Amino acid sequence: MAIAFFAASGPYRWPDVLMFAALMGCGAVCIEATRRLGMPAGVSRDLLSAWWLPVALLLPPIYALLAPILLQMLMQVRVRATVLYRRVFSSAAIGLAGCVASVVFHAVVPDISALSKGAGVPIMLAVGCAALFALLNTALIVIAAHTADPDTRWRDVLWDRESAILDVVELCLGVIVAIACGLNLALLALALPPVVLLQRSLLHAQLQAAARTDAKTGLLNAAAWQREADTEIVRARRTGETLALLIIDIDHFKRVNDKHGHLVGDQVLVGVAATLRSQLRDYDVVGRFGGEEFVVLLPRADITEARRVAERLRNRIGRMAVPADDALITVTISAGVAIMSIHGDDLIELLAAADLALYRAKELGRDRICIPAVQPAPPPAPMDPPPAA
Ligand code: GH3
Ligand code: MG
Ligand code: MG
Repeated sequence: MAIAFFAASGPYRWPDVLMFAALMGCGAVCIEATRRLGMPAGVSRDLLSAWWLPVALLLPPIYALLAPILLQMLMQVRVRATVLYRRVFSSAAIGLAGCVASVVFHAVVPDISALSKGAGVPIMLAVGCAALFALLNTALIVIAAHTADPDTRWRDVLWDRESAILDVVELCLGVIVAIACGLNLALLALALPPVVLLQRSLLHAQLQAAARTDAKTGLLNAAAWQREADTEIVRARRTGETLALLIIDIDHFKRVNDKHGHLVGDQVLVGVAATLRSQLRDYDVVGRFGGEEFVVLLPRADITEARRVAERLRNRIGRMAVPADDALITVTISAGVAIMSIHGDDLIELLAAADLALYRAKELGRDRICIPAVQPAPPPAPMDPPPAA
């Protein structure tokens, strides 16, 4: 409807079409230049606002509505064919946000060329409209995310430090590119390389984060957990602090899969992971070791603290209920605990000790925490008799 409304309200001028084509060309170069790096799964961020914003600020609103459609189509064909409704929704959200920013900016700054003459007021207004664009776009995405998954907390979808920083970077880039573009369209050639480089490094950071996490549960994957656990153990050894390691295994998980199917089993894994995360401190290192096994490293925890934490986790997970078809699924866990210096001095020894304790917990009937028995130190060997003279 917005496209139909603004398309009818013309006029179309050749310089506008040329500027639109140049900005879309820059967006296409950005997409092509990062295409080969691959795309992290799920929602990923890009810096394409550097091109949407100049379109919104410098051109009539119809262009702001069309720009995301073209670039989303290019992404769908060249980067990743994702479910179509997402592309349609993204295009609509960015287009409508850009359209509103454009209408507002043109209403408050009737002579657009003032933006590139360096006067303070139009630049401030451009920053304001860029902020409005970011706000509207985020609001539309957040409402969609919350509708798709009503269980997510508003605060989690709304506030994320990294993405707020990115919004600011996009805003700065967008306004600077708009000013340069208004000065001389050829200046886009100077703006393009740094934006491409930023976009590549952003993607690189996202892929790096994705490579550390277990896609199913969002916890650290086994390799990343081992790296972080190793670092913590080295630190504990240097500072002489205590440290505890837990291996947690869901009891009779195969039965859950057999009875309710693997997809429901996966939901239980997600639920257990979320409970673990919510019950632990920020600096505890939680990972998915594999299958239905989780590992937790508790820096600065002694044997009493480790047992208390493990009991709390067992309790909370035991009380957790995951809805499935017509039933509520509950599971219990068994855990093995090992303490640094008592049961081992490095990661391998601690894992082996905790694993042994876990095995014992299973043997004793499951739904319990076990700590390996420490062998009392053998009495000192009797001294050899003095050699006979
Ligand atoms: P125990 O109490 O002795 O630990 O019994 P268990 O059934 O939990 O243990 P077992 O090791 O026999 O089975 C683990 C099951 O976990 C087998 C496998 O189907 C399931 N599993 C492993 N990874 C996944 C996963 O990613 N998703 C789902 N749904 N199931 C998984
Ligand atoms: Mg297991
Ligand atoms: Mg199990």
